[in-house]
Amino acid sequence: MKALTYIEHGKFALTDKPKPQIINTRDAIVRVTLGSICTSDLHIKHGSVPRAVPGITVGHEMVGIVEEVGAEVTNVKPGDRVTVNVETFCGECFFCKHGFVNNCTDKNGGWALGCRIDGGQAEFVRVPYAEQGLNKIPDSVTDEQALFVGDILATGFWAARISEITNEDTVLIIGAGPTGICTLLCVMLKQPKRIIVCEKDPVRAQFVKEHYADVLLCQPEECENYVHANSDHGGADVVLEVAGAKDTFQLAWMCARPNAVVTVVALYDEAQTLPLPDMYGKNLTFKTGGVDGCDCAEILSLIEQGKIDTTPLITHRYPLADIEEAYRVFENRLDGVIKIAVTAE
Ligand SMILES: [Zn+2]
Ligand SMILES: [Zn+2]
Repeated sequence: MKALTYIEHGKFALTDKPKPQIINTRDAIVRVTLGSICTSDLHIKHGSVPRAVPGITVGHEMVGIVEEVGAEVTNVKPGDRVTVNVETFCGECFFCKHGFVNNCTDKNGGWALGCRIDGGQAEFVRVPYAEQGLNKIPDSVTDEQALFVGDILATGFWAARISEITNEDTVLIIGAGPTGICTLLCVMLKQPKRIIVCEKDPVRAQFVKEHYADVLLCQPEECENYVHANSDHGGADVVLEVAGAKDTFQLAWMCARPNAVVTVVALYDEAQTLPLPDMYGKNLTFKTGGVDGCDCAEILSLIEQGKIDTTPLITHRYPLADIEEAYRVFENRLDGVIKIAVTAE
């Protein structure tokens, strides 16, 4: 089968590999019907994910049809349409039982697919702990509607869930990349009083303006003053930092009002500074990222009810055979790309 493979630092290539087989009784084999490319894939390509293993098939955003299941998998069966979770988790350890599935203590726990084990930018993928990692897609939900459930939408949902948002709140979201927009959609479900999105890229800002008319938009350089002028208590009640740029961590806590919650969803390339003397007395609560992707069934139900729609994010479509070109467009942010759907044919 065709599989996009991490060859070496800086290089992915479409190669031929044998179709994956069931190795464990809790595995499933899924025929990938639709996949996508994530910024994390680019991080692997450029060597900033040291645990990524050369030779693996990349890709961790996908939906598909169950082809085969191991003897212990009972909640899905061949022929079912499913979402695939970016995280592998056993469902049985202390962390899994408390919903902290990102910290599953299994040796394959956490982000393994398309990083430490073969992923889904391929025709087929083996999913370990399939009962945890696969969720059935409701009949009325299309593959495109379900495409982001297992990764960036799970991340946005988790971020909104832990941020203690009330309907009195002014919520600031820093960054309107694909994960930022998914976070925005999930914050909207909490119905806060105001949402402000800070985004410097004109294409992304325009996307927010076009699709989410009630959201206030600002630029990083004006953000602090803008939030001050457009909130009730001298700053945002809740800040979600989804940009991960050079100064955005600092921006996040500076725009927060005293006693605010600051949720850091972003993954940084470099260490950040927490200047405690400067924020003394501000009494902030910081929460930090690494999605606990255990809400996929609920997210699918919200999609089915028409409460979340991520399909506008899909700006481009390419067949798997042309995935290298899709990467070129995505990586260089050409042609107004937000997300790419990779089709089987
Ligand atoms: Zn991802
Ligand atoms: Zn576990």
